[in-house]
Amino acid sequence: MTRVRTAFVWIVAATLVMWLSAELPLWLGGSATRRFGDAFMQGTGVLAIVLMSLSLMLAARPRIVERWMNGLDKMYRLHKWLGIANLIVAAVHWQAYGFVRSAELDAGTSAAPIDGWAGFAEAQHDTAVFIGDQAWKFVLVLSILALVKRFPYRLFFKTHWLFVPTYFVLIYHSVVLLDISAWTSLLGPVLGIVMAAGIWSGIVCLWRSFRVTDDRAIGNVVGITYHESVRTLELEVQLDSRWKGHEAGQFAFLSTGEEAPHPFTILSAWRGDGRVSFLIKELGDYTSTLSRTLKTGDEVKVEGPWGTFDFASDAPRQIWIAGGVGVTPFIARMRHLGEHPDGKLVDFFFSTPQSYPEGDRLLDLDARAAGANLHLHFSDEAGLITAEHVAAIVPDLANADVWFCGPAAMGAALKSGLVKLGLPPVRFHQELFEMR
Ligand SMILES: Cc1cc2nc3c(=O)[nH]c(=O)nc-3n(C[C@H](O)[C@H](O)[C@H](O)COP(=O)(O)OP(=O)(O)OC[C@H]3O[C@@H](n4cnc5c(N)ncnc54)[C@H](O)[C@@H]3O)c2cc1C
Repeated sequence: MTRVRTAFVWIVAATLVMWLSAELPLWLGGSATRRFGDAFMQGTGVLAIVLMSLSLMLAARPRIVERWMNGLDKMYRLHKWLGIANLIVAAVHWQAYGFVRSAELDAGTSAAPIDGWAGFAEAQHDTAVFIGDQAWKFVLVLSILALVKRFPYRLFFKTHWLFVPTYFVLIYHSVVLLDISAWTSLLGPVLGIVMAAGIWSGIVCLWRSFRVTDDRAIGNVVGITYHESVRTLELEVQLDSRWKGHEAGQFAFLSTGEEAPHPFTILSAWRGDGRVSFLIKELGDYTSTLSRTLKTGDEVKVEGPWGTFDFASDAPRQIWIAGGVGVTPFIARMRHLGEHPDGKLVDFFFSTPQSYPEGDRLLDLDARAAGANLHLHFSDEAGLITAEHVAAIVPDLANADVWFCGPAAMGAALKSGLVKLGLPPVRFHQELFEMR
């Protein structure tokens, strides 16, 4: 999460500095007739469109940024933070316009006709304001639908693309209403590039939403095992040659029928034969129907791989902690290590409410093959797994790194506990099983 925070702070700070580079000359110049209200509208407007542009760029899933952000899950987290920040800044911008507008009317407008861009911008002023006002209401509604978790993910997914045309409209609003002098300052070209990248990203997102380009691998279900007592489905799929392989710990978006793609960790290690498998826990309306609706031979589409939960580190010792279905990246890694051992000492803590003997036996087999020490933790009997519990078994925390996958609250509690006991914070790696 450090990268998400750092990137967010830098984006806001750099935008404000660039805006100041356009604003300060207007205050420091000899005539100095700049009004505070105008400066405020420009500042909030610039910040809002930059936040929205960058949020859209992340939605287009640029691979290079994914690597830097340590995974698509973190990239989406930054996308969300930028979206929320845009909502707040745009709300302030919208509210403030009422005050500025009355000052504008008091000051009156120039009667002399103006040529060139200035004349065009002047002529478009009222239309751009009106369109911005309408678009803001759209942003507000779409943001509420995205943030309110009670609104089903399926419907959120079907409405979220509407941000793209709304953004295009807001680009027009911003281009017309940005002070002409700002275009010739440092802000102008940077903003131009950011907006162009935002427009391109928007087009990529629309292409993807409407499947104008479809680079998903197509496959067929070749195996289904339903573990009824833990309401979990194991799915094996044979993919076509578009699937180029994956690393243990990565995930993919799986589409079945008309349903939106859902992310699942790839359970199987890659053997070059197009086989991939998934372990899917019934956690909601879509996952709960799969055991009834999916059958051998059905067509599925798989997009990916994504994620950087790759177990790469220079620490001699690794601690793995999984909660519930967060076990999947570790199974993939154990299967990989079974064939390609790396000589690292691994302690694997797996926490579930109760024992599931068949699953525990399979985990034990994978752990033995990988040379990992498996520690099963049944929280109904033993309580929640804590940092002290882990440190009692692996006291050498300073020379270890931790790989965690499971509920966010469990991850946060373990991270803070382990850091207090001596784990360097950068050595705690976490996969967020949440994208909204
Ligand atoms: C990186 C990653 C890896 C995952 N790996 C696994 C795994 O190996 N096994 C497993 O059982 N689960 C995994 N999940 C969780 C799984 O994606 C959700 O449980 C599933 O999508 C829920 O869908 P639903 O319609 O049944 O539930 P809903 O009730 O509709 O959704 C429950 C929650 O799941 C998330 N979700 C739902 N649909 C989507 C979607 N289309 N795209 C992204 N998130 C969505 C949302 O946060 C939502 O709030 C993973 C999630 C992520 C982000």
